[in-house]
Amino acid sequence: MLDLRRRDFLKLFGIAGTGAVLSGCGEPATRYLIPYINPPEDVVPGKAVYYATTCRECPAGCGMLAKNREGRIVKVEGNPAHPVSGGKLCMRGQASLHGLYNPDRFTGPMQRNAAGGFDPITWERGEAILAAKLSEAVRKGDSGRIVVMTDLITGSLRDLTGFWLSEMGRRNTHIMYEPWSYEPLKKANQAVFGRDAIPTYRLDELDFLISFNAGFLETWISNLEFARQYGSFHPISSERKNTFIFVGPRLSMTANNADLWIATRPGTEYAVGLGIIRAILDKNLAPELPAKGRAALASMVGNWSVAKSAAVAGCDPGLIGSRVRSRPHRSRRQKVCRGGSPSRDLRGPFSMFAQCNRNRRCRKSAVHRQIRRPLSDRLQPAILSYPGRQG
Ligand code: SF4
Repeated sequence: MLDLRRRDFLKLFGIAGTGAVLSGCGEPATRYLIPYINPPEDVVPGKAVYYATTCRECPAGCGMLAKNREGRIVKVEGNPAHPVSGGKLCMRGQASLHGLYNPDRFTGPMQRNAAGGFDPITWERGEAILAAKLSEAVRKGDSGRIVVMTDLITGSLRDLTGFWLSEMGRRNTHIMYEPWSYEPLKKANQAVFGRDAIPTYRLDELDFLISFNAGFLETWISNLEFARQYGSFHPISSERKNTFIFVGPRLSMTANNADLWIATRPGTEYAVGLGIIRAILDKNLAPELPAKGRAALASMVGNWSVAKSAAVAGCDPGLIGSRVRSRPHRSRRQKVCRGGSPSRDLRGPFSMFAQCNRNRRCRKSAVHRQIRRPLSDRLQPAILSYPGRQG
């Protein structure tokens, strides 16, 4: 039997983005001068207590330790035992405490007023309004709409949400909004590798890397993990300094760390990718490529030339035609990343297809070793039917 008070349930949604362990701060302020005469079992007054939890500022889900002093979280740090964070947090993870203590945060229910703004109301009033609206929706049956909208939640909280909705007679009405979504990447992997999943990348195992606007040192998929791997891939002082090329419009932190930045017009990174494939085919830089694969690539690039790619992307054709094409084929282990904001970019899935296809053809690439799948013909119909394809 689920034992959860209504207000606790509502508060759970309120603090979901900050991490369940931080929920102690949702309680009323301490009313006693010495609150810990009878302390909780795991608390020694005057000594910090650390709770292991998960950062929810992005989908990477880094493990972190929350330092608790007398019932208040005062600091969060990476959990050294966690495989993703490895003891570190990025700046968003470090700043997650602001969601808990920022004076501008919502501290209780709010009601929209006639002017379009929000007025604070009491919990009792908020609960009464919510109960009335829910009862009305349930009474209307199918015509009543009940939708729970949250940020990305997983595990017990997602189960609890589903349980609550099913009790209300609703199914599949839980909408999760995730600004850093990777749906195009998942769709591309579904088409190329047959799996609707985001693969595990091992940048530290590569010796050549090209990123199509994937800011993997800032936001892309699991930037903390990638930053650690990038340290091995591209050490500051070492004999083994591998090559990294960034293709994108902005001199981001990731671009700043590249050996070569190919500046493009926003949204035209795909053209550089097509130009690179064209250069590789024309110069026969991948002689080991089977005839079927070569034909598939030739069909994909159509009549794209290096010059056309450079004209569309607004970059120097020499960067595509000479410097880029001379590097990948020499490398034993290669990787292509496509990032940026793919869910807002109509060409996102197309670029992802190109990236995945190329990763699949690099038989020693980190991606290929993660997802070993036979050559699939599904890629070609998917690309040929893409409405934005030109030439
Ligand atoms: S990458 Fe940063 S924001 Fe994302 S989960 Fe890890 S610490 Fe949090």
